[in-house]
Amino acid sequence: MKYADLHVHTYYSDSTFSPKQVIDIAHEKGIDVIGITDHDCFGGIDEACACAKEYNIEIVPGIEISAITDDDKEIHILGYYLDRKDEDFLKKLEIIYASRIERVYLVTKLLQEKGLDIEAQDIFNIVGKGTISRLHIARAIYEKGFVRSLGAAFKKYIGVNAPCYLPHMKISPQETIESILAAGGVPVIAHPITMNDDSLISELVDYGLKGIEVFHTNHSVSDEKKYKKIAKQFDLIMTGGSDCHGDAKRNVLLGSRLVQYEVVEQLKRASLNNV
Ligand code: AMP
Ligand code: MN
Ligand code: MN
Ligand code: MN
Repeated sequence: MKYADLHVHTYYSDSTFSPKQVIDIAHEKGIDVIGITDHDCFGGIDEACACAKEYNIEIVPGIEISAITDDDKEIHILGYYLDRKDEDFLKKLEIIYASRIERVYLVTKLLQEKGLDIEAQDIFNIVGKGTISRLHIARAIYEKGFVRSLGAAFKKYIGVNAPCYLPHMKISPQETIESILAAGGVPVIAHPITMNDDSLISELVDYGLKGIEVFHTNHSVSDEKKYKKIAKQFDLIMTGGSDCHGDAKRNVLLGSRLVQYEVVEQLKRASLNNV
């Protein structure tokens, strides 16, 4: 039996692991398939594929987009098996990338106004090779000694409701799902528990949602049960993964949530039906 962890980040977004480290650990743990799902970029996929060949590990190419609803609710949408050369999709990623850089300068200014001796470059220095997120800003605040933990950086400065919080660029769940479909990909709602409103799922299904992440590090056994039922109700593919971020989220270990290979085959079929 082959098993897959379908939700893994690299240092192309906010994990501390390189694609090679991810694959080395997957090999050590005997994980057969890894879904690379960095925030807003495909950067880590080719490197992961190259390293994975050596161990006969299969890579499921993916992405995680943070959509925002009209009433400012954040909904993360995973996309699997997109055409990574799709021009319209790449254009959108470029716009998101530029807005995330701009946001670093704006948040840095707010932090300076709160008396922190911090520069945008301090944040850029700890970013890997791709998408810049609040987790990098939190790490810079922590590493410069202004707080005692990453959690405190969010609570005191950059968490939602904290004084230096700025949201990232707004992209709606509908636009996100439709863009993933248009690029031949399979849209899946990530960790639905964080949405805190299951009634939104039927709306996402109307936009073209094809799967739901039933198994996730933040889901309890009863959450899994609930989302399995919802998956059956809407005929959605039941995916799962650890959402490993390397050492940036220490309690989230690669392979801590796995699904059977059948799920990978379902995703492949769904992407082929979508072209
Ligand atoms: P962004 O997409 O740039 O707004 O950044 C979101 C990143 O910050 C994700 O990796 C989140 O998991 C992380 N994050 C948000 N709030 C917290 C928190 N309170 N503690 C730790 N990480 C957080
Ligand atoms: Mn993240
Ligand atoms: Mn997420
Ligand atoms: Mn994630």
